[in-house]
Amino acid sequence: MLSSIITRARPTATIAKLAGGVFVAGFAAKYTMGMAHAESPQPPSPPPNKVFGRAGLALVSLVLEDAQMVNHNTRRLRFRFEDKEAVSGLPLTSALLTYAWPKGSWTPVLRPYTPITPADETGHLDLLVKQYPDGKSSTHLHGLQPGQTLFFVAPLAGHRWQANSYKHVTLIAGGAGITPIYQLARGILDNPADKTAVTVVFGVNSDRDVLFQKEFDAYQARFPGRFRAVYTVSEPVADSPHRKGRVTRELLEEVAPRPGPESMVFVSGPPGMETALVGSRTEKGVLEKYGYSKAQIYQF
Ligand SMILES: Cc1cc2nc3c(=O)[nH]c(=O)nc-3n(C[C@H](O)[C@H](O)[C@H](O)COP(=O)(O)OP(=O)(O)OC[C@H]3O[C@@H](n4cnc5c(N)ncnc54)[C@H](O)[C@@H]3O)c2cc1C
Repeated sequence: MLSSIITRARPTATIAKLAGGVFVAGFAAKYTMGMAHAESPQPPSPPPNKVFGRAGLALVSLVLEDAQMVNHNTRRLRFRFEDKEAVSGLPLTSALLTYAWPKGSWTPVLRPYTPITPADETGHLDLLVKQYPDGKSSTHLHGLQPGQTLFFVAPLAGHRWQANSYKHVTLIAGGAGITPIYQLARGILDNPADKTAVTVVFGVNSDRDVLFQKEFDAYQARFPGRFRAVYTVSEPVADSPHRKGRVTRELLEEVAPRPGPESMVFVSGPPGMETALVGSRTEKGVLEKYGYSKAQIYQF
């Protein structure tokens, strides 16, 4: 099925087609390993209306129904399910590995994206995609028109969240890394059985890069004292309502509860930000120096 879709996309690129197939299989195998154990309890076979309910390869082509720019470089794309009553069925914080063959490219591209619609929303799923200058996949997705399709190779497991595992979680996002952080915050707060307190710290380059403020404001109003979102902007405008600068220890000390045995921190951002916070093989990052153990830090 996959190879027939590849063939339709570029009938003459036989070598690239074969390379693409091998690449897809290898990449998917690497990321989907262990998915079967990612959530428990799991029914032995998923209900038929879960488009991505099963671990392993999905190999689903979805039609773009609608797309809108949400800021200067980020587009929200809605893909419809063939069955209007179907749901994505993705475990919280999962991503989807997508496959595309951008115009003019000799090779296909495989990139993960984190759907921002709830797993039980019927009829469609939404991606939020930031376009990078010369970014192969993101430029392709920004050029996709309603009626065209995107191929989804496999679901990729994220963190296996269990309600009430911690008293408090600090969720740190940078730029487009906000998508799994938003998913996790929403998954916790929309679950009446989950009482975990949540602080989101969102670092962006400029004021216009702030995303989900309306949604986070609504959660703050619904859960005062339990949920808080803080935005920090590296290069803010003069009258910016947000904090200035990057995500630092000083900022965390000010806005989030101190690390303790019942806390956990999640990080999702560009490589530079993640290294500064999580550290490297040779050097501790901001979070460890602050007091989180390695086991208390999850990097998406
Ligand atoms: C698990 C996971 C989930 C993801 N979810 C999302 C999501 O929901 N939405 C989303 O927009 N992206 C998401 N990404 C990132 C996405 O997979 C691609 O990496 C991104 O779209 C860039 O791909 P590209 O082909 O356009 O860029 P490429 O052609 O690979 O790169 C072109 C240039 O863009 C720049 N660039 C690429 N990626 C980044 C980056 N992350 N930070 C800074 N500069 C970069 C670099 O300068 C690079 O040289 C996720 C990544 C992972 C691993």
